[in-house]
Amino acid sequence: MISEIMRKTAVVSTALAIALPGAVAAFADAEETKAPSEYLLVHAGSLLAVPGEAAVEQVTIVVRDGIIHEVLDGFVSRDEVDVDSDEAVVDTLDLSDYFVLPGLMDMHVHLSFEFGVDGQRSHGIGDGYAQQYKSAKDDVYNFATAISNAQKTLHAGYTTVRNVGSEGWHITALRDAINDGNLSGPRIFTAAHTIRVGADDGAGSCASVDSCRRATRAQIDMGADVIKVYATCSGSKPCGYQSAPSVFLEDELRAIVETAATRDIRVAAHAHGTKGINLAASAGVASIEHGSYNDEQSHKIMKRNGVFLVPTLSVQDNIHEDIVGAEGKMLEIMQAFLDNHGPRMLAAHKAGVKIAAGSDAGVTKHGNNARELEFYVENGLTPEEAIVAATVHAAELLGMSDRIGTIEVGKAADLIAVSSSPLENISVLKNVDAVVKDGAVVVAPQ
Ligand SMILES: [Zn+2]
Repeated sequence: MISEIMRKTAVVSTALAIALPGAVAAFADAEETKAPSEYLLVHAGSLLAVPGEAAVEQVTIVVRDGIIHEVLDGFVSRDEVDVDSDEAVVDTLDLSDYFVLPGLMDMHVHLSFEFGVDGQRSHGIGDGYAQQYKSAKDDVYNFATAISNAQKTLHAGYTTVRNVGSEGWHITALRDAINDGNLSGPRIFTAAHTIRVGADDGAGSCASVDSCRRATRAQIDMGADVIKVYATCSGSKPCGYQSAPSVFLEDELRAIVETAATRDIRVAAHAHGTKGINLAASAGVASIEHGSYNDEQSHKIMKRNGVFLVPTLSVQDNIHEDIVGAEGKMLEIMQAFLDNHGPRMLAAHKAGVKIAAGSDAGVTKHGNNARELEFYVENGLTPEEAIVAATVHAAELLGMSDRIGTIEVGKAADLIAVSSSPLENISVLKNVDAVVKDGAVVVAPQ
């Protein structure tokens, strides 16, 4: 059998050589000029390769063509490392005075806008969004904004983000431009329009099982990697109280989850009130975003269905500012939110719900994503648990544990360096000294 295949191949090759001598020659040239491998040797003073496990001292991470190739004891020089050809390019990144860990991951960002910038607290999202997304100019404007925010995010040490809601086409275009190497930015997994309750507008709103299926398929057609659904109203609106109802019916939420699943796509549900959290978790979403009023029942459902909590405690910085001028019912809602959000995140964690870090950057400042991890520690997680939330758990939530989240052989070479151990002081992650994504050095120590 094998000889027959070889013989046929030989015949085809001969025929090609006769018919297309130029093409065969070109193919042979391409073989000969295959680009040599590019190596990066990262000398790490300390290395936290797998958050949750112990750090090690003085190692060399050998990266080949953007992938972790091996991790060797000691600082290995370019002459000592086995490369696959004499032409291989070998660079060294000296982080021997630094603490190295996997690139951080933020599971809740909105790259297309930033509240408070130029007084536009709702550019690209909010009540007027249906009109806005129809505007090609807004889409292009948001693209420009998102490029800038993506770069801030990457420079802050975040090599992967999940973008949960940007209205229009620009965000999937940005993801692709980054993946193609045309723009610098984090690896983006993105939703397109956020699915909301409303008249079926062919974009992101739905109000029945059928129209919710249609809205979900519309996001998939736009290139969404994840579906974002608004399962309760906003936490900073009068309807954002603890016992607020879910805005969707259960069959509508299930329709969204099931439709997404036909393409192996997961659903992220924005939910503040307990009823909305529990209904969305029961319907099979992959993550509850914010989850401000999760309770014991929520913990049971979330653990049973493997639902992650993405806390976004960073928004408390905004609430602390906004509460100053608040009064009446709004003051009550904001105060209750501040009193509950952090403690209930800790309660969920203690009950065994997995926390995946998400900051709501866009609502909060871009590039300040690690503020979120400070909040986790201030509210009772250990620094190690906070780092796990921003690496290992985030990768699990994305279904990408085999590619990102740890520094292990075969995974993408996404890593950062800081001046001292974040296991002792989480705040050091707010000032990263080096960023490497896919083996490319984005930021190096001065
Ligand atoms: Zn958000």
